[in-house]
Amino acid sequence: MSQANLIKLECSECHRINYYSQKNKKTNKDRLELKKYCRWCKKHTLHKETK
Ligand SMILES: [Zn+2]
Repeated sequence: MSQANLIKLECSECHRINYYSQKNKKTNKDRLELKKYCRWCKKHTLHKETK
């Protein structure tokens, strides 16, 4: 397992890192955006890939 594929998912509202995920950068070059629950905002927010 390569750490190069490890990405962080940051809440777009409070900018905290809430999730870690993995993706293959060769097959998925787009920035990942997922709607996930943020325990700091206490609601579902858009989480964006960050480095
Ligand atoms: Zn948040």
